[in-house]
Amino acid sequence: MPELPEVEALKDFLTEHLVGHEIVRVLPVAISVLKTYDPPLTAVEGHEVTAVHRHGKFLDLVTDGGPHLVTHLARAGWLHWKDTLPDGAPRPGKGPLALRVALETGAGFDLTEAGTQKRLAVYVVLDPREVPGIARLGPDPLADDFDEARLTALLKGERRQLKGALRDQSLIAGVGNAYSDEILHAAKMSPFKPTSSLTSEETTRLYEALRTTLTEAIERSRGVAAGRLKSEKKSGLRVHGRTGEPCPVCGDTIREVSFSDSSLQYCPTCQTGGTFLADRRLSRLLK
Ligand SMILES: [Zn+2]
Repeated sequence: MPELPEVEALKDFLTEHLVGHEIVRVLPVAISVLKTYDPPLTAVEGHEVTAVHRHGKFLDLVTDGGPHLVTHLARAGWLHWKDTLPDGAPRPGKGPLALRVALETGAGFDLTEAGTQKRLAVYVVLDPREVPGIARLGPDPLADDFDEARLTALLKGERRQLKGALRDQSLIAGVGNAYSDEILHAAKMSPFKPTSSLTSEETTRLYEALRTTLTEAIERSRGVAAGRLKSEKKSGLRVHGRTGEPCPVCGDTIREVSFSDSSLQYCPTCQTGGTFLADRRLSRLLK
């Protein structure tokens, strides 16, 4: 799933490839991806893209005089750039293709979604804040004004575990399952540590881990073509998705906690004082 660093890299990529170009055609191949109906999808056609923004994990294509085309790639969605789009209309209901956007140059991109759970979402709105998921977003952790005092204020009053708090989009925008594992590993904290237990020294450590982990991931992703971002993300992760591999910091074996719908990874030596965390297969990953 693309998170803040990958969506930021996609934003850069699309800024370079879309701005100044006209959207001539938008084809909803999987009708279920479109979450709004007024204005219609065709309202973006004939308009030039003037900017591309990121809100949390949402991408926002701004058009000249037309509505915004906003998308959330969700868990299994991806964006594929094509210098030359194939001729002819794609057939609905076949394969992962969800939406196609064509420019006047013949180039464009496809949004695809793998698997059976269809969560990729596209919105056509006059103001991005009309998208409920954007309206609910907490502050962006890489914003200039996101300082340590801001993080302290956000976590104060939260009575839950760090893993769930970090992934909560209404608390901090853009961090998901992968980067919350990475941030907690960098901060040397248990995913189940209660937010209310953080000392000011620990908050400093968490803040630095949050900013450094995301900034480094963006640096790695920057300049990587849209099609290669997924493998780039994987190669940069130190604990997430690496169950059974050695921790790159201490060499201990990376462990996993399984939930009914997901899993998290951590290093016992670095994060839990050597203790193994129990599986929670009956519970959903904490929101
Ligand atoms: Zn370790």
